[in-house]
Amino acid sequence: MLVLRNLIGGRWREAAETREVLNPSDPATPVGRFFVATPEDVEDAVSAARTALPGWASAPAAARGTVLAKAAAELRARADELGRILSDEEDKTLPEGVGEVRRAADILDFYAQEAYRPTGELLGSSRPGVEVEVRHHPIGVVGVITPWNFPIAIPAWKVAPALAYGNAVVLKPAEQAPASAWHLADVLHRAGVPDGVLNLTIGPGSTVGSAMAEHEGIDGVTFTGSTPVGKLLAGRLAARLAKVQLELGGKNALVVLDDADLDTAVECALQGAYGSTGQRCTASSRLVVARGIHDRFVEALAARLRSLRLGAATDPEAFYGPVASGAQLEQDLGYLQVGEAEGATALVRGQAWGEGGPRVLGPTLFVGGRNDMRIAQEEIFGPVAVVIEVEGLDEALSVVNDSQYGLVASVVTRSLAAADRFKREAQVGMSMVNLPTAGQEFHAPFGGAKASSYGPREQGRAAREFFTQSRTSYVKAK
Ligand code: ADP
Repeated sequence: MLVLRNLIGGRWREAAETREVLNPSDPATPVGRFFVATPEDVEDAVSAARTALPGWASAPAAARGTVLAKAAAELRARADELGRILSDEEDKTLPEGVGEVRRAADILDFYAQEAYRPTGELLGSSRPGVEVEVRHHPIGVVGVITPWNFPIAIPAWKVAPALAYGNAVVLKPAEQAPASAWHLADVLHRAGVPDGVLNLTIGPGSTVGSAMAEHEGIDGVTFTGSTPVGKLLAGRLAARLAKVQLELGGKNALVVLDDADLDTAVECALQGAYGSTGQRCTASSRLVVARGIHDRFVEALAARLRSLRLGAATDPEAFYGPVASGAQLEQDLGYLQVGEAEGATALVRGQAWGEGGPRVLGPTLFVGGRNDMRIAQEEIFGPVAVVIEVEGLDEALSVVNDSQYGLVASVVTRSLAAADRFKREAQVGMSMVNLPTAGQEFHAPFGGAKASSYGPREQGRAAREFFTQSRTSYVKAK
């Protein structure tokens, strides 16, 4: 059984309390145990990070790049083994687990290269003989707080740019699924990240996460999780003038216009709304469908949903795996009742099965939805979508934009003009044309509008904005 210690100043440290890392599908066989970090561990991790920071910040690009590339190679070589652990602790299907580990490896490789790229600019001046120089320096010690739904990809896409740009890190993964992040830290540590540059403190948000937010030695926090916790963190960090980057919820819409290719529309809905059991901030839980194609679309999607194969995370044929936790299942089932009480019709209604084992929940497709219903406004995070019928593009856009969130939106159409208008007018951080709302790539900026994100974008070269701070120098040759 895995025993997960915390990494502080390059040493694996135990704690008084341990907790099990559960396999939701097989509660009798835990994935492992972790030592629950304390606020004192956070204190020591921050102090180790501060000591290690100057050496890492001034290390040559090659030193940082080499470590990331070496770790990427190990993750890729062990993708099957680590994907299995990920799938066990999160209840994703095995192919999704393995795919996510490979993605983490790709992200590390991308930032291994990024470490070599110029992080500055030379500008002209209004004065003769003067040059203006802009250099991007690391922000210092970065706190990384991550959720359970992508337990290795999200830690990777925050830790890799943090390290590539010369920061030291304290990582706190979600306590429900910490084994994947532990392996990421272990692999990076053995690949040669110097002692203290990467620290790992596994524990609850209310103690460990909170201690990170309050600590004056942490110069910025990057967080992915729920909106209430994100708001709390933003307030605390702003109060001490630290940097903050938040990725929060979504209530993403897939718009299907009259001229859409029906198969494309159904495929986009299937992948976007139900893929990964709907447990993604990029899930399309609102299907906004034009009148002329509504009945054909709904019928075709319902038929696909009724014939989906679902099952245990270990079932290689399952389209999606079990719901990740009992609490999440309660939430999903609660929303089925909310939708019916609000007057929507469950054309396909998911049943839960598997007491004491994998808790699989079948897909739900609500029709006759209105955008002011709670099921159209609140993030469910399960295999549930609501169809909202509209006249055409004008009404579709006003439905898309009538949301507190604005992460991603998608349109299925054959019209270039409609697609172009959609890209301009949908109030989101990312838009898709004839593609599902999920499926962003790691080398492009990731983030949303309104309550979906706060602070600079993540991923790709955009990550430089959060993980560095610029210094401008004015230089006269003589
Ligand atoms: P989710 O619904 O994905 O569990 P949360 O926002 O509760 O979303 O959790 C995301 C991450 O934030 C987890 O690592 C969690 O432990 C952490 N967290 C929760 N509460 C706090 C808090 N008060 N301060 C800092 N981090 C927290």
